Amino acid sequence: MRELAQAWRSLIAAELPAAIALRHELHAAPQVSGAEEPTARRVAGAILTGPSLTGPILTGPILTGPSLTGPSLTGPSPAGTAGAEVETVAGTGRIVRIGPAGPAIGLRAEMDGLPVVEATGAPYASTNGAMHACGHDVHLAALVAVVRAARRLELPLGLVAVLQPREEVGPTGAADVVASGRLLAHDVRALVAAHVQPLVPAGGVTSDPGPVNASVDEVDIVITGQGGHGAYPHLAADPVPPLCRVVLAVPEVARAAVDPLHPVVVTLPQLAGSGAPNVLPGVATASGTVRAMREQDRALVHDRIRRAVEGIAAAHGCTGEYRVRRGEPALVNDSALAQASARWLRTFGVPEASFASCGSDDFATYGPQVPILMHFVGTGEGPDGPMLHDARYLPGDETVGQVAAALLAGWLAGAEGA
Ligand SMILES: [Zn+2]
Repeated sequence: MRELAQAWRSLIAAELPAAIALRHELHAAPQVSGAEEPTARRVAGAILTGPSLTGPILTGPILTGPSLTGPSLTGPSPAGTAGAEVETVAGTGRIVRIGPAGPAIGLRAEMDGLPVVEATGAPYASTNGAMHACGHDVHLAALVAVVRAARRLELPLGLVAVLQPREEVGPTGAADVVASGRLLAHDVRALVAAHVQPLVPAGGVTSDPGPVNASVDEVDIVITGQGGHGAYPHLAADPVPPLCRVVLAVPEVARAAVDPLHPVVVTLPQLAGSGAPNVLPGVATASGTVRAMREQDRALVHDRIRRAVEGIAAAHGCTGEYRVRRGEPALVNDSALAQASARWLRTFGVPEASFASCGSDDFATYGPQVPILMHFVGTGEGPDGPMLHDARYLPGDETVGQVAAALLAGWLAGAEGA
């Protein structure tokens, strides 16, 4: 495995200039969630035939494998050959498989940009009203470099590249890929991703075991009373005071329910009641999000909030209802995979970092189907700099190689454990 890693690393290095050019091209022409078909074609095409017809000639040592320009590589070919299989998944997504038949390790990159007007001033900035403000252009370019390099090697098991659409909206692309059953059909034993992260020091790569992103559920609290006149509250059942108590109480109720070392976030920023100062409404509502790092905490917190809502409403002569729209689960990195990937990253000389947050990523959705590992790759802007989804966020081109190293480490870790 060590020899394979070394050869793969130098082939990736040779791919990087073309991958960075591809990154600029993707960055300049982003598509929002659900409209990624042009990106899917471009990226699958780059894996099959090359990032650019005019790009740099490959200079790495050719170990085995076919020419990268032959017509045989542009179409589907059976697993077990040196060719590549391409299939459509989740609408505008693609699965590209290379290497031998049998078990495989998956590498996933997301394709969608955001409806953000770019303000980076980059020479390759988007002008179409959408923006790769979450680094997905970097992830895609890195994945292309890794897979193209792999095509020149004799892999001990398959490599399945997942070009995933609709990471940024619900229902997410990840849920559709999971539901398609294609990862199971390809016998994917582990799925690896890497995401740029401004709060991680530049150049550092994380490989933390356990939960690294939170579950995220949208919730509505509905207190129903009896509307009336503001001067005659005793003739009505005003739902606003119990709603106010609920909004203040439930974050504390949630915190008290779980181990203090387990983060839980409850925020209820959206409130609605009467439309006039002298009218008591019949219904008052609050909406927000509930996040947790562990499934058992998630269930416990929802149960306690429901009881608080019902109890506080009842004390005010109202009825309380708690509605949950379940989103992604917590993103829980497989421990063995994370530790093995960290070892590979050390052998590559990549600086170690550690990071977890109550943010979310639909990559978590794969977790119940297959062991997963998410690396965060530091871009170093810090808390005062632009965050992900900011119109000014622009990771440097060196990040393409760093994301590629993380994907490679994760693939090798998965292959060792398969
Ligand atoms: Zn993202």
